[in-house]
Amino acid sequence: MTLTINDVKNIIMMPDDEFLKTVMPEAGKKREAVFGKKLKVKSMAAYSNICKNNCLYCGMRSMNRSIKRYRISPDDVIALALDGLDKGFNRIFLISGEDMGYGFDNIVKIVSALGSRGMQISLALGEFTKAQYKELKDAGADEYVMKFEMSDPESFNRLNPSTDFRKRMDAIYAIKDTGMKLASGNIIDWPGQTDEELANDIMLMKELDISWAPVIPYLPALNTPLAEEGKRGSLLRLYKEIAALRLLMPEVDITAQQPGKDLRKGLSDPEGNLAAINAGANVLFFDIIPDPYIDSFRVVDNRNVKGPEHIYRICEESGFIMDTGREDLK
Ligand code: SF4
Repeated sequence: MTLTINDVKNIIMMPDDEFLKTVMPEAGKKREAVFGKKLKVKSMAAYSNICKNNCLYCGMRSMNRSIKRYRISPDDVIALALDGLDKGFNRIFLISGEDMGYGFDNIVKIVSALGSRGMQISLALGEFTKAQYKELKDAGADEYVMKFEMSDPESFNRLNPSTDFRKRMDAIYAIKDTGMKLASGNIIDWPGQTDEELANDIMLMKELDISWAPVIPYLPALNTPLAEEGKRGSLLRLYKEIAALRLLMPEVDITAQQPGKDLRKGLSDPEGNLAAINAGANVLFFDIIPDPYIDSFRVVDNRNVKGPEHIYRICEESGFIMDTGREDLK
């Protein structure tokens, strides 16, 4: 059954009790029908928190002078990822701010080194040219994360003043044109987001035929303009979006690395992760960069995803199995 935009709106506006009793279990069953008890696991290397941009919701925006900036050298990034590979983690998610000083050749060097070892590589490094996306694909990148964040152009342009909606969508289509898988998605329940906008976001993910929905509820970050405008996004709206996505695109990957009620426990809170899994999500990841960098990678505050321990715990306590991509090793 394909959901229409009206079906998606109905899910978003459904009374919470009804959603929890009907749509959420249906989406959970759909996840199980597609993935069984497997949870897709990625190691994540956030190699630079330097960013030229000033997104109004992001703790790493260039105008936030309160965080300590860092870069990890290409050789160190390669060594960290290969150490993860030795431990069985074949999927790597490389992420950074839009750090123009890191050097595109250095990024290609990392991707080539990891690609030649058969690793599955997802990148979230910001906007580049179409030729650069192609070079990354040719070097071995499988998937590129380019979030549209909000599908309403006016909202996007206000909250992302360093770029604009047209440019972002051009980047998204340029990535698709290279043949890399496109991961994309939105921020859920940012201050002022309407039901209509949320439904349109979900439908845009379907239209783009994404491979992975790296979605997250809005979490106010310290020293950011949007934090002045409202509080954290609702967990129920997060679950409604995850469930709608799972019913709309049964095979899509959806981030389960979600906060629970207590934000101090961060994104590796098993309560939050399990609730997202029950709503239909299937992807978990963990940081492999060392202290003291980890705490400075703060798109949101308190990410707290050091190491895979929370994933081991979820698997042990709830009967899930880690799918680390190891079977795909060449
Ligand atoms: S969301 Fe990304 S591009 Fe925007 S300020 Fe943060 S790190 Fe930079």
